[in-house]
Amino acid sequence: YRGRLVETGTSEQVFRGPNHPYTKQLLAASSDELAAVSVQAETAAEITSNSGCAFAGRCPLAQPRCREVEPAAADVGEGHLIACWRHAELS
Ligand code: SF4
Repeated sequence: YRGRLVETGTSEQVFRGPNHPYTKQLLAASSDELAAVSVQAETAAEITSNSGCAFAGRCPLAQPRCREVEPAAADVGEGHLIACWRHAELS
């Protein structure tokens, strides 16, 4: 997202989840053409600060910490990495 890797893993891991909030939006949009257009438009229009999580401006789970410090990638299982402060709560 905006030049940052927010989730990496095998196809099975990514499609099975848990997923980064941005990945969840992309997967939801892939089955809904109108939602995909909406996601693209938001991505093009959204520019915020360079600190913190790049997705904080669009994330429904964002907390104050998210806007201050960029999250490091955390292993949520077998090399499946998610860069999110709230990775333990994702499902
Ligand atoms: S770090 Fe915060 S803003 Fe970024 S994806 Fe996770 S919950 Fe959302």
